[in-house]
Amino acid sequence: MSVIISEECINCDACRTVCPVHAIVDDMENPTGESRYYVKPEKCVECVDIFDVPQCAAICPSIGTITWDFAFTKENNEHFTSNEVYKLGERRGKLLTPAYREKKYRADIPASMRGVGELVEVAPEEAAS
Ligand code: SF4
Ligand code: SF4
Repeated sequence: MSVIISEECINCDACRTVCPVHAIVDDMENPTGESRYYVKPEKCVECVDIFDVPQCAAICPSIGTITWDFAFTKENNEHFTSNEVYKLGERRGKLLTPAYREKKYRADIPASMRGVGELVEVAPEEAAS
């Protein structure tokens, strides 16, 4: 991760259908128990090498709902393991933390633009690529 979905989500399902790596689950499957859609940070690759911009943010009709969070890298491991907004998945009994396996991220998005609540600004014309 990546990107994160806020409580402004209207559960429209648009983002889930366009995510190329199936990183988004609906409100019923949100592991945090919140009644909104959820991006699995251990799966999201910020659309790197697939699209120029995050497709979920590009299609979301609720502007500002999908925002940047820190990259899913080892140096941010504690953020993802201790932050209550995330419930990481497991594989063979191991928690899928950044320390276990880092994910690709948008290197052109600096740390200063990251953190829960930092807008993913995607112009409409960038939505299709
Ligand atoms: S940024 Fe891309 S990979 Fe990540 S959740 Fe959104 S659509 Fe999926
Ligand atoms: S596209 Fe936006 S409003 Fe719709 S489910 Fe995804 S985050 Fe929620």
